[in-house]
Amino acid sequence: IEEFTVKNEPVLTYLPGSKERCELESALKSLSCSTEEVPLIIGGEKCKSNNARCQVMDQIQQAIKVASEAQKCWDTVPLRERIKIWLKAADLMAGKYRQVLNAATMLGQSKTVIQAEIDSACELIDFIRFNAYYAKEVSKYKPVSPLPQQTLNSMRYRGLEGFVAAVSPFNFTAIGGNLAYTPALMGCGVLWKPSDTALLSNYIIYKIMTEAGVPPGVVNFVPADGPVFGKAITGSPDLAGINFTGSVPTFNWLWTETGKNVNGYKNYPRLIGECGGKNYHFVHPSADVETVVNGTILSSFEFCGQKCSACSRMYVPESLWCKIKEGLIATRDLLKVGDVQEFDSFIGAVIDDKAYKRITSYIEHAKCSPDLEIIAGGKYDDKCGYFIEPTIVVTKNPKERIMTEEIFGPVLTIYVYPDNKIEEMLTLIDTSTPYALTGAVFAQDMEFQTYAMEKLKLASGNYYVNDKSTGSVVAQQPFGGSRMSGTNDKAGGPHYVLKWASPQSIKETF
Ligand code: GLU
Repeated sequence: IEEFTVKNEPVLTYLPGSKERCELESALKSLSCSTEEVPLIIGGEKCKSNNARCQVMDQIQQAIKVASEAQKCWDTVPLRERIKIWLKAADLMAGKYRQVLNAATMLGQSKTVIQAEIDSACELIDFIRFNAYYAKEVSKYKPVSPLPQQTLNSMRYRGLEGFVAAVSPFNFTAIGGNLAYTPALMGCGVLWKPSDTALLSNYIIYKIMTEAGVPPGVVNFVPADGPVFGKAITGSPDLAGINFTGSVPTFNWLWTETGKNVNGYKNYPRLIGECGGKNYHFVHPSADVETVVNGTILSSFEFCGQKCSACSRMYVPESLWCKIKEGLIATRDLLKVGDVQEFDSFIGAVIDDKAYKRITSYIEHAKCSPDLEIIAGGKYDDKCGYFIEPTIVVTKNPKERIMTEEIFGPVLTIYVYPDNKIEEMLTLIDTSTPYALTGAVFAQDMEFQTYAMEKLKLASGNYYVNDKSTGSVVAQQPFGGSRMSGTNDKAGGPHYVLKWASPQSIKETF
């Protein structure tokens, strides 16, 4: 395989009058007028139906057959050829299709321009390029051959026999691309079930990958009703793996169904998942207030707090509370909630009515509970979209359910702790939620930094010192959590590609 290096895709600025801004504006215009339907695609053929959500079992069964069959042939395509397709696709995403991907993510998932750019442009391109790079690196591994004249040991990586189901979320267009196309890169056949609320951007990824050269049938685009899809894939003897990002209950259900069917599979399916989080910002008395305030506002409220990594519980020492409170409220007051096509909006609407109801129920709870006080925001309105103000709550009880349950919306809750209770706080952070996705510690005291890093070793999969808990970058901070946050397989890291390969050790004797 030819050597090559890759770099992270630079984030464009979209300043008024810039080339990228003009291109994006025209992509937004043409996409808003488009009436193109998002089809189901099996073996490269479009299957239209009146409602993409109501696919019947038969179609999913057909997709399983096609993917499992296509896999056998796809796995014979040399890795270097597959890598070429991936690198070509990344170039198409970085150039010709960048703004259509961004426009679809803005219109379909209500992301602001900058949030779309870091997701459907940079992160997606990075996933495609870096995974190609990691696949090449991994394939270089050579086992020891003690007597090379008489024996040669080697290792080859085969795609997983059967099919992989990729079940992707709405909140990152890039995650859809990663979940579906990393298994494909490694030689697997895939059924991709995109989120109902990210269909358009995900369909565009499918089309770009096909244009770059992924053959029909290797990835099948299967928007479907969740439980119907879940039953079909877990009931198939050919299930080779599930690549999932979504909620804990859904992932648990997939494990349970897979467990029930375990005697029927040809291979033990690999279950890879990234689920929820209840991510923390811990502020030490030595922290820099401005860094804390800016980082927390971004982490808690960007994209309406709908990132798995968003900060939703914060611990602030009494000694800094006055300044931090003032900073948070003043900065929050500057944030514009509105249509994401207005370039100065900081956040748009939350994703759907279900999310709106869930998030606002926590705000109502905060209004009624004697332990909780809303110090900023708290209003919401669904007259012309599911808009919710960035909301800051203070709690007297650090174990209040608003501090332990995932809200997945623009609600930040703060517990103000006595300065002499640092140790108790670290223990509480580690033990008060079932999750361990991301966390951040703000401190200038270096000794404390070292101490906290040890103490909070298990409390998150991604750990930040003096930076916000969101915004991991592919290859820079591979992403994933443990405990109920998932299987911690680190998307965007070098080991992830191996989840989708079945290595064969070969000893040749001469
Ligand atoms: N990787 C993203 C971040 O660090 C979050 C991904 C997710 O929400 O699943 O902000």
